[in-house]
Amino acid sequence: MFSSHSVIFDVDVPRLIKIPRNLCERHLFVKGAFESVWMIFGKSIRDEIYVEELILLKKSLVSRYFFRIDPIEWMENILDRQKKGLSYIGMAHSHLSRTIKPSPLDIRFMMECPGEVWLIVSIPLRKITAWTWSRGDIINIKVKCI
Ligand SMILES: [Zn+2]
Repeated sequence: MFSSHSVIFDVDVPRLIKIPRNLCERHLFVKGAFESVWMIFGKSIRDEIYVEELILLKKSLVSRYFFRIDPIEWMENILDRQKKGLSYIGMAHSHLSRTIKPSPLDIRFMMECPGEVWLIVSIPLRKITAWTWSRGDIINIKVKCI
């Protein structure tokens, strides 16, 4: 077993991620119907994360079984949001299935990015779950649309 250390959060694992309701309704549930991938930006205060912005990735390749992030688009978004004082929180993507847990491939990518929070949006269930990889395990984080 190995231990991972987050460079993003004050604490290792956040307890709760709060997403503005309009981002849940108009962004995740609507645009998520087309196998979408977003970058999540916001602020981390103690063990809670406040999502402030979701950036839909346009240059990245998204299919039913995998997605490939365009590294230049990814880095440009991070640098741009840093100027606004927002931190990179992680990734969000939609599942067109009734699966709300990370796929084996999702987990593999999460293992490469410990400390990132991943949101999974199940379109048929209209449900959002959050996950992070910490200390050699996949951790479920509570999600609230506020
Ligand atoms: Zn997935």
